[in-house]
Amino acid sequence: MRPIEALYRLQQVESRLEAIDRDLASLDTGERLEAEANRLTQELAKDKEMLRKLRQELLDQELELNDMEAKMRKMEDLLASGSVRSGREVEHMQKELDEFRRRKDILENRMLDLMLQIEETERKLKEREELLEQTKEQLTQIRQQAAMLKEMLTKERMMLLEEREKLRATLPPELLARYERLKARLGGVAVAKIEGNLCGACRVTITAEIIRALRDPEGLPTCENCGRFLFGEV
Ligand SMILES: [Zn+2]
Repeated sequence: MRPIEALYRLQQVESRLEAIDRDLASLDTGERLEAEANRLTQELAKDKEMLRKLRQELLDQELELNDMEAKMRKMEDLLASGSVRSGREVEHMQKELDEFRRRKDILENRMLDLMLQIEETERKLKEREELLEQTKEQLTQIRQQAAMLKEMLTKERMMLLEEREKLRATLPPELLARYERLKARLGGVAVAKIEGNLCGACRVTITAEIIRALRDPEGLPTCENCGRFLFGEV
């Protein structure tokens, strides 16, 4: 391999290595989805606790209503039997019955309200359970994808590191040092590819002298404008 070709290949290998390192650093391993799944799990626990309380309250109200209805029937039966003779006593019992009916109304309204709340909470709970299920499935997928991608990139990285060492071993240290300096100074591009008759990096026309230098296997032509090494198929 000609030195200029080795330099060009080295640059390709190194820029791919940098891209891989960036990809590995920003790999989505599902942290966001995991946080979302945890949040949903907490919300679900709250919903369940809420539902339990609502159902308990409804049960309490049902018991109270049954109890009240039993008392009312007893009083109504007593009044209907005609065994309460005192007018004041009858009046008193009727007032009590009225009070019972008023409270029964309130209880029934409250129970209706509770039933609606229970229905709504059950609906929300079901929705959240489905959402949590979906989120967990997505999380599993993302984790699998991330693991696969990580494995692929890591393998490629190892191969590139080996290739990089081989390439560097073929190049004289002073040439490598020059390459490193150019790379650092010129935005990571020390070797430009010739495109047509232009420098692929700065787009300035290359000279006939450079074309001649390209034909020399050991030649290391540089762009007169940007100073980069020039590489081209000749
Ligand atoms: Zn140039």
